[in-house]
Amino acid sequence: MTTPGSSVPQQRRTGPRPKHVPQRMCISCREHSAKRTLIRIVRTPDGTIDVDPTGKRNGRGAYLCDDPACWKRALAGDGLARALKTSIDDQTTNALQSYADRLLSLPQPSAASPVREGTNE
Ligand SMILES: [Zn+2]
Repeated sequence: MTTPGSSVPQQRRTGPRPKHVPQRMCISCREHSAKRTLIRIVRTPDGTIDVDPTGKRNGRGAYLCDDPACWKRALAGDGLARALKTSIDDQTTNALQSYADRLLSLPQPSAASPVREGTNE
């Protein structure tokens, strides 16, 4: 996948950035999330839209954070459909919405336990 002779203007910040951390972006609030949990939604090769907690399923993926408000916005405003480049029927929308509702009631052990993380500099 090389493009010889291409002169793509590169926006480079000054200074090296050795760390490459793959970040995901919530398609609803567009926050790049390192701290928050992002949940992958996948459009499988056969066209099914499904939540993909493992993040490993085949297909085109889109990410939403664990904030149900982001899910509602993405579902109501076709943001998810656009991100997945497909249309989402009512049944799937309802299923995703109920998944979002469950996010509210999920226990969040990481928030309860005082995990100290070292400050990376
Ligand atoms: Zn979000």
